Amino acid sequence: MPASVLRLLPPTLIDRIAAGEVIERPAAALKELVENALDAGARRIEVAVDGGGIERIEVVDDGAGIAAEDLRLAVQRHATSKLDDDQLVRIGTLGFRGEALPSIGAAARLSLISRTREAAHASALSVEGGVVGEVTPAAGEVGTRAIVRDLFFSTPARRKFLKSVRTEGEAAEAALRRLAFAAPEVAFRLTRDGRVALDLPGQSREARVKALFGPDCAGQLLPLAHARGDLRLDGLVGGPALHRASASAQALVVNGRPVADPLLKSALRVAYRDVMEVGRHAVAALYVRIPAEAVDVNVHPAKAELRFADPDAVRALVIGGVRQALAVPAGRVFMPARPQFRPPAMMPQPRPPGMAAGFAEAALLAPTPSARVVAAAEPAPGAGEHGLGAAVAQVLDTYVLAVAADGSLVLVDQHAAHERLTHEKLATELRAGGVAMQALLLPVVVEMAPDLAARVLAQAAVLARLGLEVEGFGPGAVLVRGVPAVLSDGARMPDVPGLVRDLAEEFAEEGAAVSLERRLDQAVARLACHGSVRAGRRLNAAEMNALLRQMEATPRAATCSHGRPTYLKLSRGDLERMFGRK
Ligand code: ADP
Ligand code: MG
Repeated sequence: MPASVLRLLPPTLIDRIAAGEVIERPAAALKELVENALDAGARRIEVAVDGGGIERIEVVDDGAGIAAEDLRLAVQRHATSKLDDDQLVRIGTLGFRGEALPSIGAAARLSLISRTREAAHASALSVEGGVVGEVTPAAGEVGTRAIVRDLFFSTPARRKFLKSVRTEGEAAEAALRRLAFAAPEVAFRLTRDGRVALDLPGQSREARVKALFGPDCAGQLLPLAHARGDLRLDGLVGGPALHRASASAQALVVNGRPVADPLLKSALRVAYRDVMEVGRHAVAALYVRIPAEAVDVNVHPAKAELRFADPDAVRALVIGGVRQALAVPAGRVFMPARPQFRPPAMMPQPRPPGMAAGFAEAALLAPTPSARVVAAAEPAPGAGEHGLGAAVAQVLDTYVLAVAADGSLVLVDQHAAHERLTHEKLATELRAGGVAMQALLLPVVVEMAPDLAARVLAQAAVLARLGLEVEGFGPGAVLVRGVPAVLSDGARMPDVPGLVRDLAEEFAEEGAAVSLERRLDQAVARLACHGSVRAGRRLNAAEMNALLRQMEATPRAATCSHGRPTYLKLSRGDLERMFGRK
């Protein structure tokens, strides 16, 4: 074999290799250019994307501009105007690595035309495949115009990894949207192949979030404002009824920087867990403010992931803040803006087994896609012996509709109600010495981040009292040998990995210094949530009535473990008032 020659790579090749790390696709080039515009104090940014951004990306801003004598420096590696000391802490600007322009210049044909307020005219400079041209006078307004053409023409291997023009164009638009969330005071306009895709004036944060999420979401967004020590969380979150198949309608902004941080995403998921079905994603725009020294943005070249000095505090901030915003005040009746009920299909149905004669006719549940409701005109005889009355229908597979003896209409949230019942059962067993454990035939291995696994194991003794037997299974895994018997009654088996991961998050939220009592309380609530009937499960009449009877026999049944109401009652008087009869 011939000896291989060890040699240093030529600088243009080094630049092209490095360019691939920062600029892996057109969306990344767009993001870097728009961030530069924002750092330059632009009030208006116009972006044009042609051919998915592979052909051309143009970003025009009205910011401070680059002086003619600085232009060549701006496209050199590690040249930046944004670090005043040599420390990488306290990063206040979006850029600071001085890598974007040289990377784009190495990977594509880049032209910069820029003019400062002081300059009599603009100056232009081009870089093609890393080869820097001469600075020439040019025509142009104050601000900067950056044009990127033929991305990856100099590295055809990279170009092959790009997806379709359409996909790249969509990714570029998504990148601009994320920045638009982060900088609502700045006007943005985007054209894709000449068509206007986005046209936003400078506006308030709330108006911007509503504009970006669109009119169908705007009415369902709840404001959020929460503080914890020197951390702050603001924003808008969608109510539980607003959900998506993907997390694409989640905007996360930390100190003005759009991020895709896994910790924040998981905290958001946990915050919604009790009110949203597994596999659905909330709509949310979260703005986190955190002291600059408590967060490291220099983990990742694109700066999308962060390292927090105190991850538990950040988790707690997000989970606490979002849950607070979602809380429905007890006793308040929300009237849906659009009718949720379809007119019932009045079809004769066989009487379900176990349903009392007398109200069966009224209770017949004619299935329609969104609701199965038949109004009960009068309370049925025999329905009046119990406070919550007799079940007449299940609405949206989530609420039990009942009519009480005095004619009141009762709506029960089946998950919230069942959760409270399980909670009380667990608490009673706990007071009596410990929760009965049901050994699993096959122990379940639950994988999770090593810090979370350690946190679960640190609470093994607490969990054992709650009937949950866990042991270590190497770093990043926990072995579950038994679960509380209450949770596994009948054929139903709780989602053990989901349960253990939630407990870990919950422990993280509270931090280490928590009393045993509080810890038990917290874990009981979590277990109850997991062991309970979910929203979205269809119940038969017998199950619904059993739920109502158990609620009547259970203390504190009017609110769930999270303090939300388990049922709403509309009396004859309420109904008369609402219909303007009185
Ligand atoms: P960084 O943003 O990390 O400093 P870049 O390579 O993106 O690195 O930009 C290099 C420098 O060029 C910036 O520090 C800034 O001084 C200047 N610059 C780039 N784009 C603009 C712009 N749109 N307006 C004003 N100055 C800019
Ligand atoms: Mg930059």
